Amino acid sequence: MNILVVGGAGYIGSHMNRLLDRHGHKVIVLDNLSTGFASAVKVGELVVGEMADRQLVEQLLGDHKIDAVMHFAACALVGESVAEPAKYYHNNVVAAISLLESMRRTNVKKIVFSSTCATYGIPETVPISEAETQAPVNPYGFTKLVIERALTDYAHAYDFGFAALRYFNAAGASTDNQIGEDHNPESHLIPIVLQVALGQREYISIYGDDWPTPDKTCIRDYIHVDDLSAAHLAALERIKLGEGIKVNLGTERGYSVREVIAACREVTGCDIKEVVGPRRPGDPPELVANASKAREVLGWVPEYREIKPIVETAWNWHRSHPTGYNKNTKE
Ligand code: UDP
Repeated sequence: MNILVVGGAGYIGSHMNRLLDRHGHKVIVLDNLSTGFASAVKVGELVVGEMADRQLVEQLLGDHKIDAVMHFAACALVGESVAEPAKYYHNNVVAAISLLESMRRTNVKKIVFSSTCATYGIPETVPISEAETQAPVNPYGFTKLVIERALTDYAHAYDFGFAALRYFNAAGASTDNQIGEDHNPESHLIPIVLQVALGQREYISIYGDDWPTPDKTCIRDYIHVDDLSAAHLAALERIKLGEGIKVNLGTERGYSVREVIAACREVTGCDIKEVVGPRRPGDPPELVANASKAREVLGWVPEYREIKPIVETAWNWHRSHPTGYNKNTKE
């Protein structure tokens, strides 16, 4: 298939490109490089531009005879979404709807959409299944839920086919060390802890140790980025027009912030200093997936089930790329 990977210069999209390429698909990446890196695009053609640019997107969809779109181009930071909701409503809703409209006008009707466990808010039941009520507690989760709903309506009215994949916490890097996580500024737990190990930061600040969890720190389900990509590929192959697939992608194992820091100490052999700070607004205490639907519907099982091997891949990347991708040039 010919696939337009929107946001393909970013963390998850760049891993996706390579898997698509390995499976014989043609990859066209559209990215505005606001947070992505040209040097993260190892396969396919990179077009630098906005997904809200209707003329550009419609031209790409038509010229490349695109069969399906994968949409990774979103803002995805819980804390930032609380502080700057306008940015989230603009990028994650307005620009995403524009992308859907470009697809509708060019008759490209298949899309794999990056959704999130943040659409559940504070779940009543953990592990979280897809039957859980979606009641987001931050703008990030809400903007993703809006697009899930739009896709449902587009499938019904316009015969779109979609997969909305509700990621838990993406982590790790490619095993060949070619691509990995690089955010500026970095806000995610594992990269920050590894930056402490590298001597780039003095300490890791734990966002609250008064949560209702066994060690009083937040629990998350960390899923390797290559496992996420594999799930996207499986979803792509199963999309049917007029229907939507909505599934959780997680390992079904939760790790607390303290357990993640302990795994990082073990992997790096470094004494990583921690300091307890205040809670971060918008954080739910515990998010762990029930991924049985992904097993059934996608035939997908994650290869990485434990935090340590995930951290090992991240550590290999960070230690060999201590300043990330460095500059926006294709290597
Ligand atoms: N976290 C933390 N210190 C940090 C960054 C994150 O304690 O410097 C916690 C955060 O509160 C959450 C978990 O680590 O419970 C994972 O946060 P991250 O930002 O990596 O992902 P999110 O869960 O927000 O998608």
